[in-house]
This record gives sequence, structure tokens and C-alpha cells, in this order.
Amino acid sequence: MTTRRSFLAGAAGALAAASLPGAGQAQTAPPEKKLGWALVGIGTLSRNQLLPALKACKNSRLAAIVTGHPEKNKPILAEFGLPETALYTYETYDQIAKNPDVDVIYIVLPNSMHAEYVIRGAKAGKHIFCEKPMANTSADCQTMIDACKAAGKKLGIGYRCQYEPFNKAAIDICRKRPYGKMKLIIADHGFNISPGHWRTDKTLAGGGPLMDIGIYSLNACRYLTGEDPVEVTAQAIFDSKDPRFNGIEESLVWTMKFPSGVLATCTTSYSAAGMSRYRVMFEHGAIDAEPATPYHGIHMRTNAGVINQPDVDQFVLEMDAFSQSVMNDSAVITPGEEGLKDMKVIEAIYKAARTGERVKV
Ligand code: NAD
Repeated sequence: MTTRRSFLAGAAGALAAASLPGAGQAQTAPPEKKLGWALVGIGTLSRNQLLPALKACKNSRLAAIVTGHPEKNKPILAEFGLPETALYTYETYDQIAKNPDVDVIYIVLPNSMHAEYVIRGAKAGKHIFCEKPMANTSADCQTMIDACKAAGKKLGIGYRCQYEPFNKAAIDICRKRPYGKMKLIIADHGFNISPGHWRTDKTLAGGGPLMDIGIYSLNACRYLTGEDPVEVTAQAIFDSKDPRFNGIEESLVWTMKFPSGVLATCTTSYSAAGMSRYRVMFEHGAIDAEPATPYHGIHMRTNAGVINQPDVDQFVLEMDAFSQSVMNDSAVITPGEEGLKDMKVIEAIYKAARTGERVKV
């Protein structure tokens, strides 16, 4: 069975990363100002991606951790040269307000906890970066945006692919239209999930594969078209006999109609072998991306041939971009509003799948 981690990491990851030392990172750059980041939730993503990325960032560094397992995670402090006072629990989290070393809080918790910890973080007077999906409901997304605005703090969402060179090259082709008008997109993201994970608990995850991995197809369709869908249809397996899928969809197929007339067909699943791909079809050509969105080893081609881009650490790019937007008081590339837009489409897709009707977004 494919674990989410092994799938996202990408088979070519180690090789590609090894062949391009420091690609996209700033290891040789002169010392520059680095903002202090606090990671909230030291799980798989924090341990395997974010902590290593923070060592390679140009404008971001680890300043604190917030964890439910202080003893287990204490060694991280020594590893990063931080004092014991840089460790908070979920109970002492609000005291981070008094820590001037922390500029940005990164929420890396199960989806249902994002809203509470974003709001508490904003009240503590910190800028907030939050993992995708932004929250379990669009109402929560709006409350999170309002809380950060009220606190006068920036809010960013971890849509790492929007910082990633291959996906940015694909966006560029979509805007420059060398193959004529865009007509169709096919996008598929899923993996075969192991049992017993919070991702299959509807209360914590907010839904099934659509929330977790299908969102990559949805977000890609939005950044490739540069548009928001106006109407969706969907079919899902909600009544799976597989005990992993109690209350969440096992697989889901949906379509989206965009204002320019582009039609997208997307699939997501927690029971099919790993898939991470999209195909964008224009009047006179296409972009093929497979795998399209793993951490490493992305492969894309067009009618003109293979797209060449560096294999970078996407987490370095997203954190440094957010730090720069805080330091320069400039626009966040993937702000809270981006998470809210996806959540509104996700709600429409679930409604369409439950009712069998076309749903306007
Ligand atoms: P994980 O299960 O590995 O880690 C979750 C963390 O939350 C752990 O530290 C755990 O102790 C803590 N936690 C606190 N309360 C919990 C509870 N009630 N149940 C379970 N864990 C609890 O999860 P992860 O894979 O690190 O995912 C965390 C977030 O990051 C999710 O929102 C996920 O969608 C997102 N994510 C994003 C990417 C990406 O590529 N951008 C990749 C992986 C995960």
C-alpha cells in the first residue's frame, strides 16, 4: 500500500535532489534577515519537510515549536540551538504572544484544528501560515481571515505548488497561450491510504480524499485557468463497505465549468494506487504533467518537448516568500482568500455528489 508520504515524496525525489545540490535554496547566499517561525504540530510534514526546510531557508528560521509531546520533541530545540522556553504545548500556546523571537506561526495540525489555532495565533499578535485545506468549512475560513485582519496580521495558506518552478512554468504557458485557447483539463490526485489515520476521521479531516489530496487537482485547475469555477457536478462512493471509509468518500469524480468555457474533469481517491497528474488541452497542443505535484521528481512536457526546471524544496520557497511578504509588507502569494475559494468549491462538489445535481459555486 502506498503511504501518503512515500507517494508525495516521489520516486525520483532522492535522485533529483542529490543531482541538484541546493537547487532553489540559498545555501551560498549572504546572510540576510530571517524571521522566526513557530511550528504548531510536530507530525509527519513538520518533521520530514518543514524542519529540514527551515535549515535551508534564506529569510526564515525555526524560533519555537508547539507540541502535545514535549519530551519527545525537546531534542529539536537543541538541534536548532533554541532555549527550552521555545517549546510550548497546546495549553501554553497563547503565551507565544510574549515571545518576540516568533514572527510567524505555521499551523501543521489536522484540518479541523486549523481554525482554532489560526485565530489564537492571530490574537497572540503573530503572522500566520496555515496548511491546506485551510479549514473544514468556508465559514471557518472566513472567520480565520477576519481574525487575522482584525489583528493586522498576514495570513498565508500552504499551497506549495504555486511556488514550484514546473507548476509556475505550466501557468506561464497557460497565460501566453502558444497552443491557442485552453479548452479542457483532466486532473487526478489520490493514493491508497493506510487504515487508522485521522485523515479518514470526518471530524478531524472534514471529508475524505477531496479535502486532502483532491484539493491539488482543484487548486491546479484554478491556477492553470486563472479563473474560479462557476458550476460543478460530481459522483462519489460514500457508502463503501471498506471500514477505512466510515463517513467519508472513498473516491470522487467531479467536473468544473469555468467562465471562459474551459471544462475540467477531476478524480480523487483513497483506495486507488497513487496518482498525481494533470493534462491541459488547448486548441493546438497540450501540457502533460505526471507526476504533477509531488515534493520532488515532477515531470512535465508539451508538444515542444520536456519542460526543464530545477527540482527545488517547495517548502523553502513558500516559507521564504511569506517571510518576504511580511518584511516588505507586500501581498501574500497564496493568502487566506485562496483557501476560502477552494473551500467554497469543495462544499459545492460535496453538495453535487450528495444530490446528483449541478451546483453553482
Ligand atoms: P500528522 O498526523 O503527521 O501530524 C499531525 C500533528 O498534529 C501531530 O503532531 C499530532 O500529534 C498533532 N495532533 C494534535 N491533535 C491531534 C489529534 N486530535 N489527532 C491527530 N493529531 C493531532 O499530519 P501531517 O501529515 O503532518 O498533516 C498536518 C497538516 O498538514 C494537515 O492539514 C495536512 O493536510 C497538511 N499537509 C500538507 C502537505 C503539503 O504538501 N502541503 C503535506 C502533508 C500534510
